[in-house]
Amino acid sequence: MRKMRKCFRKENFTLFDDIKSALDMPAVVRGYGLKINRSGLAICPFHAEKTPSAKIYPDAFHCFGCGVHADVIGFTQRLFGLARPIDAAKKLNDDFYLHLDVGGKAQSAQVSEYRRRQQEREEYERWEREAWNTLRGYLRTMYDWREMVPKSPDEEPDPRFAYALGQAGYAEYLCEEFIAADENGRKAMRAEVERAEGFLGGVSDGLKTGVPAKRSFVGKSRSSGMSEAAISNA
Ligand SMILES: [Zn+2]
Repeated sequence: MRKMRKCFRKENFTLFDDIKSALDMPAVVRGYGLKINRSGLAICPFHAEKTPSAKIYPDAFHCFGCGVHADVIGFTQRLFGLARPIDAAKKLNDDFYLHLDVGGKAQSAQVSEYRRRQQEREEYERWEREAWNTLRGYLRTMYDWREMVPKSPDEEPDPRFAYALGQAGYAEYLCEEFIAADENGRKAMRAEVERAEGFLGGVSDGLKTGVPAKRSFVGKSRSSGMSEAAISNA
């Protein structure tokens, strides 16, 4: 069993991994002429800007301006408009004198494994953007509803107002958690994001006078934490 596992690992250690372990992101970024300032930021070559908004991590390029996220292969591919990741690998191998065997031997399995991981990455990033929009939308809705203060003490409060009073704190908490969390932490919030999404869907499904009848989103405030049990579909 142990032997098999070892063998499996070895096969997965691809040309792309070789390149990535030989070259970190700052080396590639500098090598291709970009300047990295003291905060680790560079002018993004993928959108027009005057102040740097691309963060250069040891293993990734991430632009907070245009959203491009790439490893050294993806960065190089994009920077030089190359058709395939393998072309970027070849270029890096040449430009940085890595002397790796990139010739015809870069097996298609390696390439497709790399592609698969890239795709996973892109899917996650898409989800992350949408999740953030959902949580922000939920928070904004709670803020809007909280403004629906009854005009006089005799007036029956709008159900949305009552709902938002209880939920705005929870919505804030979700947003703060999401911002502070790392990738795994964000993935772990999937259920909360889906409930917020369902709730907003219920709102846009024609909510006019009250909270959505079906998919109400009942959470607890910050002090009581955010366990699965704290939120339930009513
Ligand atoms: Zn950019």
